[in-house]
Amino acid sequence: MTHLRYLSTTCAVCGESCRFTIPEATGSVGSRDLDTRPPEPLRSTIYAWVKRCPSCGYCAPDPGKSPEGAAEVVKLPRYREQLDARRFPRVANTFLCWSILQEDLGAPAQAAWASLHAAWVCDDEEDDVPARICRKRAADLLRRAWGQGDRLAVQEGADEALLADLLRRAGRLREARAVVKEVLGGNPPPVIADIMRFQLRLIAASDRGRHTVAEARRSKQPKAV
Ligand SMILES: [Zn+2]
Repeated sequence: MTHLRYLSTTCAVCGESCRFTIPEATGSVGSRDLDTRPPEPLRSTIYAWVKRCPSCGYCAPDPGKSPEGAAEVVKLPRYREQLDARRFPRVANTFLCWSILQEDLGAPAQAAWASLHAAWVCDDEEDDVPARICRKRAADLLRRAWGQGDRLAVQEGADEALLADLLRRAGRLREARAVVKEVLGGNPPPVIADIMRFQLRLIAASDRGRHTVAEARRSKQPKAV
């Protein structure tokens, strides 16, 4: 059973008071997906991770706070268009607006995460084309983050493993394979090596589906003698 709480706050962009439903903090049991999506029950709380001010459309994890410059970005045509873009599920639009904000304010790593989260919402809606668009955007933003010396995750090789999965699930199999090959050529940590070898097999099978880290570890092939 999920217990609900409410967050009452004042929108930091327009000053309107708003109230959001939020689930109790929950953990998760089981293995993460290869793209870091957590298992249940945390998995299903995604709809509450980013909130939308019903008055001005400001989207943020906490609309009571806004980064410098957010009020200007919220007015941009690109932002307004995304807010109600019909090709994406509504909650995906909320994440994508937060992603646009982060991107415009010079935080591509955060923007990449938000775009990945939008993809997960599309997955839940079984909306394949928008999911691929979100993953492609996340991959581009991840590379842009690297370009400015930023990483999405601290663990060695974690960003590369994420990029490989983003590209594979976006259907960019050749690009995904190139990333995997490069990482495997560089003597990565054992977990990353397992994941990358698993990715190679998925790519070879043109498998664009969701798989978990546990599967990657289980499917380790015995070393040839
Ligand atoms: Zn507002």
